[in-house]
Amino acid sequence: MFLDDGDPMARAAAVREHLTAVEDRALEERAAAALALVDDPSADRMSAYRDRYGACGVRRFTSGEGDRIYQMRAETFPGHVNWVYFVAGQDPSGADIALLWDVGSGVSTTNEEIEDDLDVAHRVFGEANARLDRLTHIVISHAHIDHFGGAVYFTEKAPQAPLAVHELDARVLEAFEERLVVASKDLGVYMKRSGLSSEKIDELEAMHRLSKELFRSVRVDRRLRHRQRVAHRFEVIHTPGHCPGHICLRVGDHLLVGDQVLDPITPNIPPQSITPFTGLENYINGLVRLRAVEGIAVALPAHAEVITDLGGRIDAILEHHRVRLERVYEGAREPMTIEEVAHLLYGERDGYDVLLAITEAGAHVEYLNEMGRLRIANLDEVQRERDPVIRYSARAPIK
Ligand SMILES: [Zn+2]
Ligand SMILES: [Zn+2]
Repeated sequence: MFLDDGDPMARAAAVREHLTAVEDRALEERAAAALALVDDPSADRMSAYRDRYGACGVRRFTSGEGDRIYQMRAETFPGHVNWVYFVAGQDPSGADIALLWDVGSGVSTTNEEIEDDLDVAHRVFGEANARLDRLTHIVISHAHIDHFGGAVYFTEKAPQAPLAVHELDARVLEAFEERLVVASKDLGVYMKRSGLSSEKIDELEAMHRLSKELFRSVRVDRRLRHRQRVAHRFEVIHTPGHCPGHICLRVGDHLLVGDQVLDPITPNIPPQSITPFTGLENYINGLVRLRAVEGIAVALPAHAEVITDLGGRIDAILEHHRVRLERVYEGAREPMTIEEVAHLLYGERDGYDVLLAITEAGAHVEYLNEMGRLRIANLDEVQRERDPVIRYSARAPIK
């Protein structure tokens, strides 16, 4: 789920337009190439076409070390598309690797779509191990429902493939019910302190529960840590912030980046006061960590566009947050609640977007507060009341 600045509807329209424009250009080129194929349908030209444009929505990338990475489309919720990846290669002993990166939401149509995608990799691209009974690894980028919700389904269909996730996200998969109850409670307290009305809080809590009631717990076979390797080859890079256990996976000169780096959108960053290891400070550190990884030609994200200039995109996201932090600081010349900050940054919001706006605004307020640039303006009241609405105001810059 994402959020970006300005008027939300205008922003959503702009993103849609951008994606449509990109899609249209690609379509035009594809149509011209397809017409040329009618004149000369030789096997060579067919495979050149497939390599360039993909087939049935599946695109193949090849790492400098010869691994094949298939980008597969999965509509995880109505109108919400995830890219799931299948990686085929060999480990240092020469054994086959057939790795699935993310498993979609668990919605039955999404499961089917991923199976169809694998079938395309198998039949159209000739990838022998693109079959559930040949999978060797299932790796989850992070514990958000659109990325791991299919874990029950796919581990049942591919019981031979161990399920791996970063250790900080393993609990969400293994004790999902506990996590859901605790997260809803913490979120309730947070929303109260943010200044939302109790009707709005009830509505959002119900929505939060509903959106997550899709999943039941699943056993995790391997808990990953920063710099470990999967299949003795692919390096894990821990990038917390968007989610505590968010990881990227290096496949030669290609980097699977999950939700950490997206283009043209940015991932939602919740505050650490709701979930430890999230928050802006962790997220920024994760970006800086990725910025230092050398030799990445292509970053393959879980949503939106493929990124060919990872460093440039990271710099743009860092700048985006710097500008937003300044806007919050300037806005807090008068004491402000988190709800008011959310309004300042994102304007009027509806439905689930209110939750995204209030958590993202809170992450910026929290960061500035921790860095000593914002202070609590109503400290007496905060001391007196049980769950008071907190107001923040800008501290004068230190001379
Ligand atoms: Zn996510
Ligand atoms: Zn996502």
